[in-house]
Amino acid sequence: MSNVLVLAEVSNTGQIRNSAGMLLAAASSLGTPVAVVAAAPGAGAALVEPLGALGAQLVYVAETDQVDVLLSSPQVEALVAAAHALTASTILLANSADGRDVAARLAVRLTAGLAIDAIGVREENGRIVATHSVFGGSYTVESAFDGEVAIVTVRQGAIEGKADAAIPTVTTESISVDAASSGVIDAVHEAVTATDRPELRAATTVVSGGRGLGSAEKFVLVEHLADALGAAVGASRAAVDAGYVDHALQVGQTGVTVAPQLYIALGISGAIQHRAGMQTAKTIVAINKDADAPIFDIADFGIVGDVFTVVPQLIEAIGKRTS
Ligand SMILES: Cc1cc2nc3c(=O)[nH]c(=O)nc-3n(C[C@H](O)[C@H](O)[C@H](O)COP(=O)(O)OP(=O)(O)OC[C@H]3O[C@@H](n4cnc5c(N)ncnc54)[C@H](O)[C@@H]3O)c2cc1C
Repeated sequence: MSNVLVLAEVSNTGQIRNSAGMLLAAASSLGTPVAVVAAAPGAGAALVEPLGALGAQLVYVAETDQVDVLLSSPQVEALVAAAHALTASTILLANSADGRDVAARLAVRLTAGLAIDAIGVREENGRIVATHSVFGGSYTVESAFDGEVAIVTVRQGAIEGKADAAIPTVTTESISVDAASSGVIDAVHEAVTATDRPELRAATTVVSGGRGLGSAEKFVLVEHLADALGAAVGASRAAVDAGYVDHALQVGQTGVTVAPQLYIALGISGAIQHRAGMQTAKTIVAINKDADAPIFDIADFGIVGDVFTVVPQLIEAIGKRTS
């Protein structure tokens, strides 16, 4: 089987970002999943076991002392080195800001094809085919690669399942990174959110609230349901504009794109710009008092009712099942 490279993104605190699991699951359906990490000398060893647990059969550690100093270039060089060393022709990255940045530069370096924001990836007749949800989720399109190397950025949460855990083989190489062609990291400010809830982009369940909640005080109903389900909280733009929650929680065309297993929309009408950010969720549940609200056009399950009547009952029922 051919090696399929996955860029494992690492946070400033040294944690492997959630996207690695999804990417390794996708890679395992295409070939041998290989996790590639750029790490400071000696720092890669601690990442091997968790990457194996996520399904990496091989971990390629590219060591450079520039990893905390230069923007993107260490990851680009790590993938270039791994692609050459392992003759890999498929490379998967998260469709995050960092992932897209690295993918674009990598495509130039490897003269490779690049498909971004895929919600699925498969091999068909020897070619890599990526699936995309476009124009606000109105169309599903496919792009296939003709060249020798295919690079795909994958929407977070879009891939179901998990690769089998493995005890990975480890390859450690030193790489050199040209500082002249890099942006330099001057200072890092990691936004700290005071919540134990899952991160919105990567959450498997999202509960979002809209203008129908009526006020910031009443928006806590959304949070209560989210907490009962262990879900992330999202919001429509109208809810954000009205000041119910921070813009970081906005789902949609001008907010975050999510692709969870379950998306629950409370008091959200389902405008096209909102749908653009959540339409690829596997199961959509909508609660809205207007039976004609467009959200019901895409909902798998819909409840016509007042959120302040329905949701407390839902939370109570969930509590009974989980206690
Ligand atoms: C360029 C552009 C970009 C945009 N980007 C985004 C984006 O990223 N994300 C986004 O969400 N929007 C975006 N919008 C705004 C979008 O067009 C809608 O205005 C917005 O999504 C509406 O939010 P809403 O559904 O919460 O509010 P509304 O459309 O006002 O809907 C509120 C819903 O709540 C229901 N409701 C009211 N009270 C209750 C109750 N007690 N119980 C149950 N249901 C109730 C109503 O029936 C109604 O359907 C964008 C618009 C533009 C022009």
